[in-house]
Amino acid sequence: MDSTNIKRIGILTSGGDAPGMNAAIRALVLAAHHYHIEVIGFYHGYNGLVYEENIAQAKVLTLKDVNGIIHRGGTILKSARCPQMLTQQGLKQSVNTLKDNNIDALVVIGGDGSFNGLLALQPLWHGQLIGIPGTIDNDLDGTDFTIGFATAVNTAIEAIDKIRDTADAFERIFIVELMGRHSGHITFNVGIACAAEQVLSFENFCIDDQQAKIIELAKEIKTAKENRHTSYIIVIAENLWPDGAANLAEQLNKAADIDCTACVLGHIQRGGSPVPKDRLLATKMGVAALQAIISGENNIMIAEQNSAICSIPLEQAVQHHKRVSQQLVDAQENILALTAQTQY
Ligand code: ATP
Repeated sequence: MDSTNIKRIGILTSGGDAPGMNAAIRALVLAAHHYHIEVIGFYHGYNGLVYEENIAQAKVLTLKDVNGIIHRGGTILKSARCPQMLTQQGLKQSVNTLKDNNIDALVVIGGDGSFNGLLALQPLWHGQLIGIPGTIDNDLDGTDFTIGFATAVNTAIEAIDKIRDTADAFERIFIVELMGRHSGHITFNVGIACAAEQVLSFENFCIDDQQAKIIELAKEIKTAKENRHTSYIIVIAENLWPDGAANLAEQLNKAADIDCTACVLGHIQRGGSPVPKDRLLATKMGVAALQAIISGENNIMIAEQNSAICSIPLEQAVQHHKRVSQQLVDAQENILALTAQTQY
């Protein structure tokens, strides 16, 4: 490896924050320190580049800055959306900031939107562009896992286990809405791990079938209730049902006099201390990002495939959203949901 040409790199966190982003920042700074490379942290996502003249938006990151952060959720660099990146003016300002600060490579931790930001900079700037997948949604193609997904799943499971206790006590029906933007990675993984009686997500439901679904759900809930006196939990992906879990509860009530409690887990899924899996993934990816820079790689996303860290072209990462495993969907649809309703 030849690190002699690389003197300074920039890093920012962008889009929705994800537990483990701090662990990735720490690993990158430690690795850079090892190779005598300086790291500039840009604050508030791409705003740190667009508005760099504001002194609070950028800072040299020292070992002291990243001490004691591996276990902290959120991001020490803050995150934000930055609509200016969608304009030529914003992109030009970003490039000026990178040039003014003598940045040789830019590392962005975020989701597909953030990587589209990197791709937009590509024709305008000659430095290296590296993405690290940090999003609880796990929807980036080309990597088995994204930083934050394992923690979000864990947080939601802990919450639903608690809901299950109270639901069991009162033999209640709960509809729990989970995050994931437009994909069901969190919903399917959490639903299966919590033995939810129903998992409703983009992968197994089309909104055109709304009325039919209400009739089907009402029938299945009634059958399950007749067969066993216990709770019934439906997990549902956010942005799936018009007006969300509360509206589905109301529709079930109106259609079949079924009393459901709606619960939106919301932002607790983004927060909290990263689980070991996310700390390790983030650390491996942070180190790999620095090594990729030294090796001269450009326009890539660091990824994990079959437990090995690798890199893939940024274009590939943003081309499609990663689909939820069909095996998981089939298992829930054909075995787990039916078993829960008819045999206990
Ligand atoms: P998450 O899905 O976890 O919220 P994300 O990175 O996909 O993360 P977005 O809000 O889609 O989040 O994007 C984050 C930021 O990336 C935007 O606010 C914007 O600054 C930049 N960005 C997104 N799309 C583009 C684009 N096409 N061109 C330039 N910049 C973009």
